[in-house]
Amino acid sequence: MGTTIVDSVLDGMGEAERPDSGDGGYVMALDAGTTSVRAILFDEYGCKVATASRPLSISYPQSGWVQQDPVEILSRQIACMIEVQFTSGIHSDRIRAIGISNQRETVVVWDRSTGQPIYDAIVWQCRRTAPIVDALVADGYSDLIRERTGLVPDAYFSGTKIKWILENVEGAREMAEQGNLMCGTVDTWLIYNLTHGTVHATDYTNASRTMLFDIHKLAWDDDLCEMLGIPRSMLPEVKPSSGLFGHVSSYVMTHRPPITGVAGDQQASLFGHCCFEPGSVKNTYGTGCFLLMNTGTEAKASCHGLVTTIGIAEGGEVDYALEGSVFQAGSVIQWVRDELGLIEHASDTEAVAKSVPDAGGCYLVPAFTGLGAPWWKPEARGVICGLTRATDRARIVRAAAESMAYQTYDILKAMEADSGHTLTSLEVDGGAAQNDFIMQFQADLLDIEVKRSEIDETTALGAAYLAGLAVGYWSSRDELRSNRAIGARWQPQMTGATRERLLAGWRDALRRTME
Ligand code: ADP
Repeated sequence: MGTTIVDSVLDGMGEAERPDSGDGGYVMALDAGTTSVRAILFDEYGCKVATASRPLSISYPQSGWVQQDPVEILSRQIACMIEVQFTSGIHSDRIRAIGISNQRETVVVWDRSTGQPIYDAIVWQCRRTAPIVDALVADGYSDLIRERTGLVPDAYFSGTKIKWILENVEGAREMAEQGNLMCGTVDTWLIYNLTHGTVHATDYTNASRTMLFDIHKLAWDDDLCEMLGIPRSMLPEVKPSSGLFGHVSSYVMTHRPPITGVAGDQQASLFGHCCFEPGSVKNTYGTGCFLLMNTGTEAKASCHGLVTTIGIAEGGEVDYALEGSVFQAGSVIQWVRDELGLIEHASDTEAVAKSVPDAGGCYLVPAFTGLGAPWWKPEARGVICGLTRATDRARIVRAAAESMAYQTYDILKAMEADSGHTLTSLEVDGGAAQNDFIMQFQADLLDIEVKRSEIDETTALGAAYLAGLAVGYWSSRDELRSNRAIGARWQPQMTGATRERLLAGWRDALRRTME
């Protein structure tokens, strides 16, 4: 066996119907996100040629629980891989390599003999394992976790989610002890199935988010596995992000392109932005903000509540990164729209914010669920302050938009302090990075240039780059840099005095959230 109906239809497509990249090849990126999965074809210039996308269901069986169906993730991902070939006419014989970027920390546990998941995927957002984490902290494991993994103990990371499945699914513990269970993050689940069960592997960046991986030794850590009661036999082999993972089975693609790039979504985005130099930073402005700074070959421990993680594992070296996130970013705009009713569409914020010269001393600190990095005050609650009789709708909307830039500023300053690097520019992507007002304000606050790449799919592009480098589709990082097209850039225009005054007001507003 090996050829499916779909494959034979694809085989029948004429050459003439297919776009030509000039060198007869493309790289396919699989972008396995939380809300959707996509397959995107890139040409040698890093331009997007075709895309297919499918939404994913998500379920919330109890308060704080978040899970997804692993088979749906897989089948919709495969559907995208098939569809993008139909719509583009680019057949698997012209796909030189496949790269995967995935939602991080989400785990799947499956039966080694049947390949069937024994439980839904527990999604990164899921908080059900918070009591397990509390117990680890109470038992004094925080320092061990921090030293070996670079992470702060949190339910967010994969390890406690695997433990939860072993403890709560009937028979799971015994199966695991007998070596009959396998586990992995979403990349691993996809690779395993796309290679027809022949490859059980992940990459360093995904492994670094499990709370089981020693980021200095680049190996699973026996003490951490024991701490969580996870048998080593369940865990995948860990490889650099760029290199051969395996070939896609002919059940899925006739010509069996190799999977040669794998990275967690934020790390893939770092690579897609070509943040190859120590000190370079990207920020993704979505529902939350995700910031990663490349800190080079040295893992820098944070004194400011950031996590240390593996940033890039390509070309025989590992670059570490500092990571910080803003919990409430684009979500604040949604709140202003849906709860306050001040705007109709998220994009309205730009015109409304620009309609006034400044926020008139008004600040909105969206500590809805406490303050994250670098403050870590879970008990803090949000405030709107500095109100005067002149405060109007536009100024509150402006303060909401500005809050994304202030929170980003705080994390970047923590990154500078932890890493010793001084920022020279900021690479941006994500839905809210489409807002020119916020980007200009960000450049003004940071007093550096802000650059938005022309392509909005930097995560997928990063996965494609990792895959393409491994097969020589692109020759070097220099070639990737030369592909790089900046769609928009913002230079700082604010005076130092204004910046200081605004930041002093923000710090005052922050203090009020903790009162
Ligand atoms: P995610 O990947 O987290 O779903 P996206 O990158 O798609 O997020 O960005 C969506 C978020 O960005 C939403 O929270 C939305 O409120 C916000 N957003 C989208 N467009 C704009 C805009 N033009 N200005 C401000 N915020 C925006």
